[in-house]
Amino acid sequence: MINVQNLTFSYQTGLPVFQQFNWLVEKGESWVLLGPSGCGKSTLLYLLAGLRFPNEGQVLINGNMIKRPRPETGLIIQDYGLMPWATVFQNAALGLTIRDFYGPDGKHAPLGAVDDLSQVEFWLERLGLLDVKHKYPDQLSGGQRQRTAIARTLAIHPDLFLMDEPFSSLDAPTRESLQQLVLELWREQNLTLVTVTHSIEEAAILGQKILLLKQPPNTEAQIIHNSQMNQPLFRQTAAYQEVCQDLRERMLI
Ligand code: ADP
Ligand code: MG
Repeated sequence: MINVQNLTFSYQTGLPVFQQFNWLVEKGESWVLLGPSGCGKSTLLYLLAGLRFPNEGQVLINGNMIKRPRPETGLIIQDYGLMPWATVFQNAALGLTIRDFYGPDGKHAPLGAVDDLSQVEFWLERLGLLDVKHKYPDQLSGGQRQRTAIARTLAIHPDLFLMDEPFSSLDAPTRESLQQLVLELWREQNLTLVTVTHSIEEAAILGQKILLLKQPPNTEAQIIHNSQMNQPLFRQTAAYQEVCQDLRERMLI
C-alpha cells in the first residue's frame, strides 16, 4: 500500500533526514516508527500524509504518488488538534464536515452536502463518548480528548491511519487501554496503521512490524518483525519482554 522509493528529504536548514531511503508497507499491517527524539519519525509520517514532500524519490500510496493530502488518510497529530471552541460532537464531526463541504478533490461542494453525521454518533458511542458529547475539550480527561480525535479520524472511513505519539501524555492505565482500543479498531476496520512513538513498550504492543530510525541521515530501513503481538494478553508474555529487550539493545547501538 505504501511504497517509499529512494526518498531523500531535508529541511532547508539541515542535513538530510532521509537519504535514498526505501520502505514498503502492505495493506492491513500495523507499523510503528520507533526511534529517539529528532530521528525523523514525525517527518516520515508527514511525508506519508502529504504534508511534506521529498527532495528526491517518491512516496506512493496505492500506486499513486502523493502530491497533496489524501482524503482517505486519517492523521492524528501530537497534541490531538481538537478545536477548543467546539464540543466533542462538533470536533468529531469536523473531518467529515470539511471533507463533504470541499469534496474529496478539494473543490467546493454545494452547501448542505454534509449528510452522514450518524457516522459521528456511531463512533462517539463506539469510543464511549456519548455522555460527554456536548462538553468542550478543556472539560475532558486526556484519554477522552484522544478518543475524540480518534472518533473524528475514523468518521471519515480512513484506509490509512497515521498517529504521532498518540498516547505519550497519558497516564499508564489510560495509555494501555487506548492501545488495546486501537488494536481492536485496527483488526475490526482492516486499517493500515502507522504509529509514531519513542516508547519501546508501545512499539512492542502496537507494532506488527517496527521501523527503527536512527539519528539522521536515515539511509536504510531497519525492520523488526513482531508477529507475536497478535496473541492474546501479549503484554504478559515472555515474548513481549524479549521484543522489548531486543529493541532496547538495538536502540543503544
Ligand atoms: P522526531 O519526530 O523523530 O522527533 P522530527 O521528524 O520532528 O523527529 O525531526 C527530524 C529532524 O528534522 C530533527 O533534526 C529536527 O530538528 C529537524 N526538523 C524537524 N522539523 C523541522 C523544521 N520544520 N525545520 C527544520 N528542521 C526540522
Ligand atoms: Mg516527532
